[in-house]
Amino acid sequence: MVNGYAPISLREALELMAAHKLTPYAGGTDLMIEEKREDSFLFLHKIPELKQVSDDGEYIRFGAACTFTELLEHSLTPALLKEALSRIAAPAIRDEGTIGGNIANGSAKADSALIFFVADAQLKLAGAGGERLLPIKDFYLGRKRLDRRPDELLVEVLLPKKWLGSYYYQKIGARKALAISRLSFAGLLTIEDGKIAHCATAFGAVSDVIIRRADIDAMLIGKTPAEGKAAKAAYLAAFNEAIIPIRGRVSAEYRKTVCLNLLGDFLERFGI
Ligand SMILES: Cc1cc2nc3c(=O)[nH]c(=O)nc-3n(C[C@H](O)[C@H](O)[C@H](O)COP(=O)(O)OP(=O)(O)OC[C@H]3O[C@@H](n4cnc5c(N)ncnc54)[C@H](O)[C@@H]3O)c2cc1C
Repeated sequence: MVNGYAPISLREALELMAAHKLTPYAGGTDLMIEEKREDSFLFLHKIPELKQVSDDGEYIRFGAACTFTELLEHSLTPALLKEALSRIAAPAIRDEGTIGGNIANGSAKADSALIFFVADAQLKLAGAGGERLLPIKDFYLGRKRLDRRPDELLVEVLLPKKWLGSYYYQKIGARKALAISRLSFAGLLTIEDGKIAHCATAFGAVSDVIIRRADIDAMLIGKTPAEGKAAKAAYLAAFNEAIIPIRGRVSAEYRKTVCLNLLGDFLERFGI
């Protein structure tokens, strides 16, 4: 039997989280496949603050308990995020699964988390000690290890609006639909006034945590596409060093080769 609390405001939810040992329960699509759980749950579906979507000029702010379907249907959801969400599972899972659960489950295969990584999104967490914002990259400490205190809830994802328009996205699965990522890649690249104004990449399902190496991407920023081409070999070599794949259903060698091929294809798409 599943037991727990179903608060109707964020304030009530945080009071309950502070007073009891509770596991947040959003859509349950990850939690319910875990065997034999004894937890008491905090059900998030009735908390209006976690279901809001707004645009504050700099960020699109998504409530953590928004489902994939709700965001696919929302006019503020950018095309790149919609593309990734539309490739998650099947409609029944998309109706229940939330972005907060996708992020807080701590998997490097999480398809919405990949987009939040490449865009350098910020996460808003709230708990007994108040609220804090942190870059999504810092939330992940390792496989299934997160910078989240037991009394904290993930409240909001702040997606920077700048640079999202010009993107490249690939999800490699065993099938075209209903497939968990064997590997996923997202890249953002903007050329302004003949120079690479922004370049960001993220690799999912390769390592314990989604790989985002802004320091390597910076090798291309400020260059013309021709200069970028000249720097391409060094850029690819740097990622070849940085990507240390884990063995899973597919071999580490396969993962590394596909990562580098996708990276090359991404640059070619932008004439680099
Ligand atoms: C058949 C199937 C196919 C799937 N296919 C895909 C796929 O293609 N791509 C993909 O990315 N995922 C896939 N998933 C995984 C899953 O649907 C997603 O990870 C989903 O986003 C989880 O969200 P949820 O709301 O169901 O999370 P839940 O199961 O409710 O929670 C997951 C974890 O997050 C924690 N949590 C949830 N919300 C919060 C919060 N606000 N604050 C703090 N902690 C929180 C919970 O305590 C739990 O530890 C699939 C799952 C199934 C069963």
